[in-house]
This record gives sequence, C-alpha cells and structure tokens, in this order.
Amino acid sequence: MTVPLVDLKAQYNSIKEEVDEAISRVIHSGQFILGSEVKAFEEEVAAYLGVKYAVGVASGTDALQLGLLACDIKPGDEVITTPFTFIATAEAITQCGATPVFVDIDPGTYNIDPQKLAGLLEKKLSHRSRITHHSSPVRAILPVHLYGQPADMDPILELAKEYNLKVIEDCAQSLGALYYSNQSPITNHSSPITHHASRAGSLGDVACLSFFPSKVLGAYGDGGMVVTNDSKLAEKVMMLRNHGCKQKYYHLVPGFNSRLDSLQAAILRVKLRHLDKWLELRRQKASLYARLLEPVDDIEPPYVAPYSQHVFNYYTIRLRNSRITRNELQEQLHAEGIATAIYYPLSLHLQEVYKSLGYKIGDFPNSERAQEEVLSLPIYPELTEEQIENIVAAVKRFVSSD
Ligand SMILES: *Cc1c(COP(=O)(O)O)cnc(C)c1O
Repeated sequence: MTVPLVDLKAQYNSIKEEVDEAISRVIHSGQFILGSEVKAFEEEVAAYLGVKYAVGVASGTDALQLGLLACDIKPGDEVITTPFTFIATAEAITQCGATPVFVDIDPGTYNIDPQKLAGLLEKKLSHRSRITHHSSPVRAILPVHLYGQPADMDPILELAKEYNLKVIEDCAQSLGALYYSNQSPITNHSSPITHHASRAGSLGDVACLSFFPSKVLGAYGDGGMVVTNDSKLAEKVMMLRNHGCKQKYYHLVPGFNSRLDSLQAAILRVKLRHLDKWLELRRQKASLYARLLEPVDDIEPPYVAPYSQHVFNYYTIRLRNSRITRNELQEQLHAEGIATAIYYPLSLHLQEVYKSLGYKIGDFPNSERAQEEVLSLPIYPELTEEQIENIVAAVKRFVSSD
C-alpha cells in the first residue's frame, strides 16, 4: 500500500476539463498579469469569506508581509504570535523590520493561548508604561489558525481592542473554516455565515491566505491573498503588490512585485467552486479517522473546539507516552508506504534565525512538547475509506504495546 500525503493528480483528474478550459482561456486572452481573472477571483473570495476586499498577491508569505506593512508595522515594533507555526508567520514580521514576540499555544488546539496572551499584554504594556511613561512597541497580534482550525478569536479581539492593537490573521491553513462567536459580529447574510458564525479570515483587521499547492485551495504554483473590510488597508496592499503605484509609472511608496498570477487566478476560480464539497469530504475523512483512532490509548486525535468548524488542511495526531517515539512511528509508516509529515519539528523561538531574540528551551513548554509529539497523516478529498482503515491499522500495529 502506498498513500501520499496529498494527491494533487487525483484532484486534477476530477476537474480536468474545467481547469484546462480556464488555462486555455487565459493563454488566448494574452492577459497574464492582473486583469479580469484576478479581479473576478478576488471578488469571489471576498464573497465566500463575507469580507469587503480581497487583493491577490504572489504567495501567502507575501500576503503576511504586505498585510503587516499595510497595518503600518515598522522597524522597532513588536508583533505577538505563536512559536508553533510555519516560519513564514514570523519571517513576515522580521522582514518588516519588526520583532516577533511569542506566546505559548493551547495544548488542545495548538493555537495561541488567549489567557497567556492576556498575561503577556498585562505584563508588557502596563509595566512598561508605568515605569517609562512611554508607549509600548507592541503593535499587533498575529494569530495562526493552525491545521485548519480557527484560533479562539473572541478573547483575542477583545484584548486587541483593550490595548489598541491590530489583528492580522494567518489563514494560510484554514480557508473555509468557521468561527462561532459569542458576540454577534456584523457579517453578511449568505449561508453558512450567520449572525454568530464567521469565516476564519473575516474577523481581524486583515487576514492572509495562501494558495500553496498543498493548502485546501491550492494553485499550480505559488499564490496568496490579503483580505480585509477596511478600504484603506486594501488600497495600501494594492499599491504595495504593484511597485507602490496606483497609476502606472507614478510611484507613491516603496513597493514590491508581488501579484497573483492570472493563470493561477483562473485555476483557483475553478477550484473555489468545488471548495465546500472538498472541505466536507475532508471533514468526513477526519471523523472516520477519529472514530477508528478513539480506542487507541497512545494516540490523541485532533481536538475540535466548540467554537470552530475545522477544515482539516492537515490531520494531525499526537502520540502520548507510546511504546515508540513519534519519529519511529513516522519511519515505520514510511516503510509501509504511508507518507506523513511533521508540522512543525522545531518551534520558532528555538530556531537559529531567532537566536538573537534570546529565547531558550523551556520558554514555551506546550509548543516544545507538540514539536516532539505531533504527526500529520494523509488527508485529502479523494482519500478512500479503505486507505484510512489501512493507515489506522498500521498505526495501531506500531504503537500498541499488546
Ligand atoms: C503555507 C503557510 C504560509 C505561507 O504561505 P506560502 O504561500 O507558502 O508563502 C504561512 N503561514 C502558514 C501557517 C502556512 O501554513
């Protein structure tokens, strides 16, 4: 048995005619940079998320950096985020000249822990302003919706309001996920977005999407998007992605060449039409996995918080005091032809690149424990029940002590 982590070819085969038509349409149009495909895709994503504006950019990483720059994050500023994420989250902060400040994760959801965030803000902001009478350099919170599950946004948004901070959502892994709020945010009325359910990515000041091929909505190359309800922020990102100009050859700010490719936009428009069906299939696969893994003592299936509808970009289990280590399990599964992945094996505060920030082992115990214990199993809409049964059988064989 061989099972890949994702099967992009199976997905292509299921939509081949639509995709081929879209690609050919763009090539015949001769419009490869921005233009009507990108504009149409931006409008479709904005409508899907229930936000006012969407701006296509070259990657999810660029979406984060341009989103941060649009929020006016500058050298000397601090942005609070999680250490248990892909490097791009913190890298975007660093590339703005700002400093990432980490807060540990909740061990159940793997997302930033709002209570710990409150503790840090309390310490940093009140203490600093008391002693120095200067304002704090903390400017923003960057929650990541890891694996396809939204971070607990209500308390995060409340803290942001209290301390006057921007919120930039890293939605790279969770396009389509829902957050059920205790509050009643004003959202649009198209189902399934209701008075208390919002899409991940519609809650902060800006949110950043990635269309990296292995994401729930993947391009055939790189792509990303910044979404927001704020017309000024959208306008800034539109300038930044295109050399800092509104009008060609008249440059207002130092910008970038970071546009979403028209070919990718046309392909993604096709895929967006299938997204809800694919997300439902992912959830079905996840519940089958959970049912089969529930009785296995040493395995913790993903915890789905009551405030979220998960999209399972990754199906990530945790090994608890099992007979073999996570790395051994990965090797054994690999030998059986089952591909798995570790998202992520080294927390960001322990990375060489952030040595100068002065963090040390023990600073974020939940993140450090997760990096040793998590393992992502294959999940994609085309994965069969039989494949899942075989994967679980293999996992059981290796972890159970008999
Ligand atoms: C994929 C990813 C990114 C970066 O997206 P790219 O499109 O690869 O640049 C950022 N943050 C998280 C959490 C991601 O998973």
